[in-house]
Amino acid sequence: MRIAMIGTGYVGLVSGACFSDFGHEVVCVDKDERKIAALHANVMPIYEPGLAELVAANVRAGRLSFTTDLAEGVKDADAVFIAVGTPSRRGDGHADLSYVFAAAREIAENLTKPAVIVTKSTVPVGTGDEVERIIAEVAPDSGAKVVSNPEFLREGAAISDFKRPDRVIVGTDDEDARQVMREVYRPLSLNQSAPVLFVGRRTAELTKYAANAFLAVKITFINEIADLCEQVGGDVQEVARGIGLDNRIGRKFLNAGPGYGGSCFPKDTLALLKTADDNDTPLRIVEATVQANDSRKRAMGRKVIKAMGGEVRGKTVAVLGLTFKPNTDDMRDAPSLAVIQTLQDAGATVRAYDPEGVEQARPLLNDVAFADSAYAAIDGADALVIVTEWDEFRALDLGRIARTLKTPLLVDLRNIYPPAEAARAGLTLVGVGRD
Ligand code: NAD
Repeated sequence: MRIAMIGTGYVGLVSGACFSDFGHEVVCVDKDERKIAALHANVMPIYEPGLAELVAANVRAGRLSFTTDLAEGVKDADAVFIAVGTPSRRGDGHADLSYVFAAAREIAENLTKPAVIVTKSTVPVGTGDEVERIIAEVAPDSGAKVVSNPEFLREGAAISDFKRPDRVIVGTDDEDARQVMREVYRPLSLNQSAPVLFVGRRTAELTKYAANAFLAVKITFINEIADLCEQVGGDVQEVARGIGLDNRIGRKFLNAGPGYGGSCFPKDTLALLKTADDNDTPLRIVEATVQANDSRKRAMGRKVIKAMGGEVRGKTVAVLGLTFKPNTDDMRDAPSLAVIQTLQDAGATVRAYDPEGVEQARPLLNDVAFADSAYAAIDGADALVIVTEWDEFRALDLGRIARTLKTPLLVDLRNIYPPAEAARAGLTLVGVGRD
C-alpha cells in the first residue's frame, strides 16, 4: 500500500514513520524546506523519543521518504493523509482550516488514481464535507473518497501510542474507503492491539473533540479539588488516588498541576465551544473548564509570589521545565509561559532550564536567562519552581539545592517531591493541593 502524508509535523512524521514500519510505502510531504532538508540529513525536526531510530530504519529499508513536492508524494498513492496544523483562528477561537483546505486543493490537483483522502488533522464537524466539495470541484472525475481518521497520540509517547492505540476511529460510510482503511491499519487488527471503530464521518470528527474536551475537564476538575484541598486541609494526591481507584473514574489525568497547555487541549476546547455556539447547543461544562484553566496558569505565578513572601522585585526565580509536558520540545500554550510572565510582571528575574525545549522557548520568552543545567539555573536563585516534570528533575539532590538557593524554597507545581523528603533536605516545599 502506498501512502502520502501531507504535513510532516508531530503527527504527520510519527504517523508516516509508523505506517512505514507497518510495511507500507510512505512519502512524507512538507512545504517547509528546512524540515525536509533536515530529514534528508537524518536530523529530526522535533524531539520525540525513539523517532530518529524509527525514521532511520525505515528510510534504510526503502519504505519511507521525504519531499517538498506534493505531486511526487501523491502520485500513485492509495491513501493520502492530511496532517497539517489546525491552530486557533486569530481573534475568534474557531479552528483555522486554511491549511487543510489548501492541502485538499493541492491534493486534488495532483491525484493520479482514485485515492482515499484521509483527514488526520483535528477538524470541526463538517470539515470532511467541505474537503469533499473541494475535491469534487477541482477533480470531479477523480473517484476520490474522503474519510476522517482523527489522531489520538500524545507527544512524548507518540510512537507507542500510534502502534498500540486504545482505538482507531475511522469515519466513512463508503465501503471501498473502509476497505482501504482496513488495509492501512491491518497490522493493528492482525495482532489485535486495537479495535478499529468504523463510524460516520461527522461522528469521527466529533469524537476527537469530545475526547480532548473530556480530558481537559478531568484535569481541571482535579485542579479545582486541589485548590479546595489547600483551603480545607486535604491532600489532593490522596484524594485523586481514592477516587481514581474507582474504575468508573480511572486513575489517569488526575494529577493536579499548573493547568493544561500544549498544542491540542486549549485550541480544541475553544473550537468545540465555537461549534456548540454555532449550533445553539451550549457545552457549559467545557465553557467552565476553559475559563478555570485560563485563570489557573497565572494563578500559579501568583502562588509562587505568595510563597516568596508576596514581593519578588529584584529577586531571581529558577524555573525548571518549560515545555507543556515532559519528553517533547513543544512549547505551544505551555503553562510555563504564563507562570513566567506573571513573575516578570511582578518584577522578578527568571532563570530557566529545560532539557529539550529551549530552542522553541527562546522566541516566546523575553528577558529570560537560559541555563545549561538544572543546578546552573538554581545557583544563587531566591526560589526554585518546577513547572514541567521531566524525569531528570525527579531525582535532584535536594540537599545541594537547599545549599545553593539563597532561600531554600521549592515550589513544586507537579507534586513530584514528597514533603517529608524536602523537609529532611532543609527545603520549604510548596506543592499543589496540599496544605
Ligand atoms: P505541526 O504544526 O507540528 O505540523 C504541521 C505541518 O504541516 C507543518 O510542518 C507544516 O509545514 C505542514 N504543512 C502545512 N500545510 C501544508 C501543505 N499544504 N503541504 C505540506 N505541508 C504542509 O502540527 P501537529 O502538531 O503535527 O498537528 C497536526 C494536526 O494533528 C492538528 O490538527 C492537531 O490538532 C492534530 N493533532 C496533534 C496532536 C499532537 O500531539 N501534536 C495529537 C493529535 C492530533
